[in-house]
Amino acid sequence: MPSTNSWLSIRQDFPILDQQVNGHPLIYLDNAATAQKPRAVLDCLDHYYERDNSNVHRGLHELSNRATTAYEGARERLAAYIGAEAGEIIFTRGTTESINLVARTWGDAHVGEGDIILLTEMEHHSNLVPWQLLAKRKGASLRFVPVTPDGLLDLSNIDELLAGPVKIFSFVHISNSLGTINPAAELCARARLAGVTTLVDAAQSSGHLPLDVRELGCDFLAFSGHKMCGPTGIGILWGRKDILAAMEPFHGGGEMIASVGFTESEFKPAPYRFEAGTPAIAQAIGLGAAAEYIDGIGRAAIFDHDQALARQAVDLLEEIPGLRILGPRHDRGGLVAFVLKDAHAHDIVSMADQYGLALRGGHHCTQPLLRKLGVPASARASFYFYNTPEEVEQMAAIVRKIQTFFA
Ligand code: PMP
Repeated sequence: MPSTNSWLSIRQDFPILDQQVNGHPLIYLDNAATAQKPRAVLDCLDHYYERDNSNVHRGLHELSNRATTAYEGARERLAAYIGAEAGEIIFTRGTTESINLVARTWGDAHVGEGDIILLTEMEHHSNLVPWQLLAKRKGASLRFVPVTPDGLLDLSNIDELLAGPVKIFSFVHISNSLGTINPAAELCARARLAGVTTLVDAAQSSGHLPLDVRELGCDFLAFSGHKMCGPTGIGILWGRKDILAAMEPFHGGGEMIASVGFTESEFKPAPYRFEAGTPAIAQAIGLGAAAEYIDGIGRAAIFDHDQALARQAVDLLEEIPGLRILGPRHDRGGLVAFVLKDAHAHDIVSMADQYGLALRGGHHCTQPLLRKLGVPASARASFYFYNTPEEVEQMAAIVRKIQTFFA
């Protein structure tokens, strides 16, 4: 685990953090929405565009070869990052596109009339709406693992929920609204016993804790590059090799074909059959650099660091009168969402911004969950390894000031 000093020197890798916002030093606590990018990733993008920029796969010249080598190298880097094989790593635009890909291809082939898609009540809209669309297309229905008032999955009858014509169980690893860490390996094991395919939404976990798809035992895993120090517009869908091999293409176009006739085409094997058109080359290479950078620090250390900040935040925030914290008390990922009596989350976040504090307010793309919890919106502070205990203290002090305004 890096010492306090080395965490501070790691922070120096992020030029964006060194600025004033509204006359105050920036305190960036909106990492669950998107994380900042270290110099290593920025330099990698610069280098690519200054030296190697070219289209991949089709070229027979030096720059194209370099771009292809770097792009495929990133695929290998990402495979190592989650204990997978390179052929199982599909580059997508992010978690949302990864889940849509599965719902459209695997879903269309395996989910039929009367079948059930199992989700949880704490899903991000991106792990809900694609399944609603699939259910509508196919005459299937959705079933939900309930969330308890303290923000945990109620697993008391999980085996019954997995029973019947359930085809897929798609669930979030770490909730972006509650911070809950779901027991992903156990859930996948239970689903496997029931013969149900699993998809893990790792958007909030991929940059925050060690992930190994074989240990998780899932069938699909989805995450976004921008939440783990990588660029926007790039993400990963991992799928088990045998499952990917049997899946129809998602988008049609160049790059994904083996041969094309006027009326019919043959497709490349996975992962290329799922990457139609010119891919996000620089972004994929940048994501490879981000994975390298994160593993240079160590995800176990990052997890401990972020959890400690979240614990500190819970302890400080819960002393503020009229403040309610959503989700489990201490056993949580590095984020804390809360509501203040009589204050709308948007007002809290706008006022915090006047102090240079970046929070996020709203429904966090989990409208049904917040409705169930009886709150229209929440304010959320989310942490990463470059945040400090001093920033958490300042955040709590600012929220306390805001509270007195509404008292
Ligand atoms: N799932 C979760 C848990 C998330 O937090 C997010 C992003 N807020 C997403 C999915 C969607 O990610 P993206 O917008 O990068 O596709």
